[in-house]
Amino acid sequence: MEILPGTPVALGGPRGFEVTRTLPNKQRRMVGAWCFLDAYGPHDLDGSPGMRVGPHPHTGLQTVTWLVAGEVLHRDSLGNVQEIRPGRLNLMTAGRGISHAEVTPADHSRSLHGVQLWVALPHADRDMPPAFAHHADLPVFSDGGLAATVLMGDLAGLTSPAATHTPLVGAEITLGANAAASLPLRSDFEYAVLALDGAPVIEETTLKPGPLLYVGSGRASLRLSTASPARLLLLGGEPFEERLVMWWNFVGREHDEIVQMRLDWESQTPRFGSVSGYDGPRLPAPPMPLTRLVSRGRVR
Ligand code: MN
Repeated sequence: MEILPGTPVALGGPRGFEVTRTLPNKQRRMVGAWCFLDAYGPHDLDGSPGMRVGPHPHTGLQTVTWLVAGEVLHRDSLGNVQEIRPGRLNLMTAGRGISHAEVTPADHSRSLHGVQLWVALPHADRDMPPAFAHHADLPVFSDGGLAATVLMGDLAGLTSPAATHTPLVGAEITLGANAAASLPLRSDFEYAVLALDGAPVIEETTLKPGPLLYVGSGRASLRLSTASPARLLLLGGEPFEERLVMWWNFVGREHDEIVQMRLDWESQTPRFGSVSGYDGPRLPAPPMPLTRLVSRGRVR
């Protein structure tokens, strides 16, 4: 097992919304097709605007929004307006291009706690038409004080209704006080675990919120236990062997493609559509770096 440390990032500048980024990580850029992981909170929103991410584009990926506490309001260029709450999944498939905005709604809880993930689309699907889905009814696997909600893919014989494009899993796992359980895994998947609450013990390793624990592959099961109630996120999938260029909010395969995506956003071509109902400016793309972007594999 490897501990992958998190990096603090302020979205929207130094006084922005604070998140801890564990993917991509220096050592490991991906876990299965999962290529991006920001965790935030619990944030106390008393006297704070909360999340306020203006319209921005995506390509070549799916965004997965999952909350432990609070609410986030999603608006996209397909016309979808969807508030998300804990236990429900917002899944946006960017394909060849989409734009969206995510904000804390006016009427909201005091606490905001959640994760924002990206899943890379494989070559065959990366230019597919954009789509959005909200899933309020997800399968739950229970065993010995453990309850696992399957957000994406397959776990323990249960399959999420959410659309996936490579073999993978994403699940939120809660452990009751003094829980001890064994989670069935696929030996051909690699896995990682993030603690969201408490201090769950994964095999012999105690994990607190912050870093990502890379568990690797070749395991048929994973032992989870805890003294006090705990919550964690399990990510896994078939190792993703395509090399990617990830830059700003785009996932592509080569430099010139990213240049074109950036140009299409900056010149407001129809590729990314427009987001209605957001009170504020769209996010400008940063300037391209002076050197050519290089594609990278899943491991450094
Ligand atoms: Mn986004």
